[in-house]
Amino acid sequence: MEKTDIRSLSFSELEHLILEMGERPFRAGQIYGWLHQKTVTDFEQMGNLPKQLRKRLSESCNLTVLKPVQVKVSSIDKTRKYLFQLADGNVIESVWMQYHHGCSVCISSQVGCRMGCKFCASTLEGLERDLTAAEMLEQVYRIQALSEERISHIVLMGSGEPFDNYENVVRFLRLVSDERGFHISLRNITVSTCGIVPGIRRFAEEGLPVTLALSLHAPKDKVRQELMPVAKSYPLDEVLDACKEYFTKTGRRLTFEYSLVKNVNDNPGEAMALARLLKGMHGHVNLIPVNPVSERNFVRSDKRAILEFQRILEQAGIAVTVRREMGRDIQGACGQLRRSFLEKKEQGSIDPGKENKGG
Ligand code: SAH
Repeated sequence: MEKTDIRSLSFSELEHLILEMGERPFRAGQIYGWLHQKTVTDFEQMGNLPKQLRKRLSESCNLTVLKPVQVKVSSIDKTRKYLFQLADGNVIESVWMQYHHGCSVCISSQVGCRMGCKFCASTLEGLERDLTAAEMLEQVYRIQALSEERISHIVLMGSGEPFDNYENVVRFLRLVSDERGFHISLRNITVSTCGIVPGIRRFAEEGLPVTLALSLHAPKDKVRQELMPVAKSYPLDEVLDACKEYFTKTGRRLTFEYSLVKNVNDNPGEAMALARLLKGMHGHVNLIPVNPVSERNFVRSDKRAILEFQRILEQAGIAVTVRREMGRDIQGACGQLRRSFLEKKEQGSIDPGKENKGG
């Protein structure tokens, strides 16, 4: 019989499991606290449970724990990048960043990605598999345990497309924000999507007040489709309509991400078209100087072009920020560290067991 993925269970599912095992209901609260507040890595650590129950749990359930195989610390801004190994041997990456408002982690939602965005390293080898809710939680839990600093913010901007793994992402959001568990405010969580319209519309109905970030990257369908194959399925007017609905239903202002690629989407005409497109939308633009990926020949926009792009948006009354670059020296962009790890592993120069600095 397949084991139950206990860290992915909601409180009521856990209660159900405990009752089915013939145990007293209050045990569910104890176990939930061990899983999501104390974030234990072994059933044996659940000190207030009878030995027999710990044994039965370990026989019938899997406890997802991520193993850190590499940790890189930026000497520029203290950003840390973690490479974690999953139970099946796959590796994923997560990033820890310190801001004036607290500590934030950027987590992955899938192993790889099948969206195919042209500038992104996560998608070069396609999708390997979805992450479970527990594997998303564990990125947050392990990083907090390793860094010993309280995490206050989460962004789903690592590898993967959250709405291509919809159920697990929503399950993760409910678990991580539960006051009986890790209890991070949903208002401090951002979910970034490449613009899967049915996903945005469905997400608007969940009653989860998270910030939605839309990866826009071009104000016109033609260029957007060249950069993001998914744009062929969902034209801009439909995507922005869904974003409006998200604002209407949740009251949450959106973030529009725009990665600036030299001579591709960074000319003044495009800035003006973007301003027209977003007029009246409730949200702000986050300009991201593209992080060059070695497998692609995209070049980051010049400083002058970036400032000019920003100025045009500001003049048109659009709120805009340029993303502060974090962890440039440690392959901070999506999927880059994982790729270099896998490449080195293929060449036989990394032994994950020996690289383990955190456990
Ligand atoms: N699949 C989600 C989240 C993943 S990436 C999405 O598409 O939104 C988070 C953001 O980083 C996205 O806006 C993505 O387009 C952008 N991004 C990915 N690789 C990048 C790179 N090399 N340079 C700049 N931005 C990049």
